[in-house]
Amino acid sequence: MFETKILGTDEKSVRLAAELIKSGEVVGIPTETVYGLGADAFDEAAVRKIFAAKGRPADNPLIVHVSAFDEIAPLVIEIPELAKKCAEKFWPGPLTMIMPKSNRIPLVTSGGLDTVGIRMPSNSTARAVIRESGCPIAAPSANLSGSPSPTTAQHVFADMNGRIPAIVDGGACGVGVESTVISFEGDGIRLLRPGFISVEDLKEVTENVMVDKGVLEMLGNDVKVSSPGMKYKHYAPKAEVTIVDGSSMQFNEFCKANADESDTLMVFTEADAEGLYNRKIVLGASDEEQAQHLFDALRELDVMGAEKVYARCPRKTGVGLAVYNRLLRAAAFRVIHI
Ligand code: AMP
Ligand code: MG
Repeated sequence: MFETKILGTDEKSVRLAAELIKSGEVVGIPTETVYGLGADAFDEAAVRKIFAAKGRPADNPLIVHVSAFDEIAPLVIEIPELAKKCAEKFWPGPLTMIMPKSNRIPLVTSGGLDTVGIRMPSNSTARAVIRESGCPIAAPSANLSGSPSPTTAQHVFADMNGRIPAIVDGGACGVGVESTVISFEGDGIRLLRPGFISVEDLKEVTENVMVDKGVLEMLGNDVKVSSPGMKYKHYAPKAEVTIVDGSSMQFNEFCKANADESDTLMVFTEADAEGLYNRKIVLGASDEEQAQHLFDALRELDVMGAEKVYARCPRKTGVGLAVYNRLLRAAAFRVIHI
């Protein structure tokens, strides 16, 4: 087995990453959300390598990344007016917009769909790699399918060593959860996956924002999902995670009554677990901190060998909705409401 190279973010490294992508290879790249596995979105063989490296089901589409707004015209049949407004407000940034795809985007890239999800990342290294490659870059999160998304180059290395030639190490991701995914319906926006750009943010563009059922509910296998990624088991650590929905005091009392000594507690602040001597993972008081630390915490659970975990329930508004959506999947939808 070969060892995956870790590159820096200097000009020479960016050029090398772009050369690899141009030659049909897959490279780990940093973005502000999570690390991505990038390849030329037009190159079917290169895109197949992404699916192989991740072990990703072929019907789970990839997001196509651009470095400037003008680059999206050849990728789509039409740019909805609302998409232009959203791009103006939120790009570059953690927002993916679903649009009808042109023939330039191969079906491999779109997971067989006639639409394509497009995003312009705000991470300057990501944009430099795209610009230097001279092509749009298809990139899903750089984890093995089913594992938590990677928020550091070390996470990517742990999953991808020997599977891809190189990773560009841009440090820890600032946002920490994947991009918000939206589609357009009439004069409205449908939220398919919550992220750092929140429902409240989107409402500044139009009041008409619908939250797709798949955001908070477990979808049956027979349901046709609008965002294919939602149906897959995700972010799951080996431990059995249970979300406890209540105030800090209620969480504390619940754990005192129900948690064994060996159980791990995932809390916002130490105060949530005051007087409890269990192992703790502290995510942070704000939604933003929780988003930033969640995936690292889920990986940490495996490293610790945690078997049973009680997690405080994230807020369901703002960026909290994104944290809740990911934690729900990590907990296989086990929630105790107090
Ligand atoms: P990942 O890159 O791992 O965050 O996964 C990308 C996710 O974006 C997919 O799993 C889908 O849920 C969503 N997505 C990407 N392209 C489309 C599309 N054309 N239509 C609907 N959802 C999409
Ligand atoms: Mg993913």
